[in-house]
Amino acid sequence: MCTLSGQHDETTGHILWECPFARNTWALVRGKIHKSSSEAPCFYLLARQMLDRLPKKEMEVWAMTAWSLWTARNKFHFEQVQTPPTLIFRRASSLLDEYQRLMATLPA
Ligand SMILES: [Zn+2]
Repeated sequence: MCTLSGQHDETTGHILWECPFARNTWALVRGKIHKSSSEAPCFYLLARQMLDRLPKKEMEVWAMTAWSLWTARNKFHFEQVQTPPTLIFRRASSLLDEYQRLMATLPA
């Protein structure tokens, strides 16, 4: 069962996309991402769909937010510490900012 909601099998698609907990986090993301279908029977297909639909910048936000959700799931599972969606989103944004700053310093 889902670690966070206890409502569904804990598939990757559920934890990172379908879970009400994940939906609350995705609702904070601007752009096309949260207007996508809320169902993800297969995470791989969801990722492919996002690659096709999203501009590069939004795809980076999508990947980082998915990573942040996974980290929050592990924190709850292993340490029983629940991370609010606003913090999950903020962590994803600041990690992405840091990544983009570092990439800008690399020689072409
Ligand atoms: Zn769930």
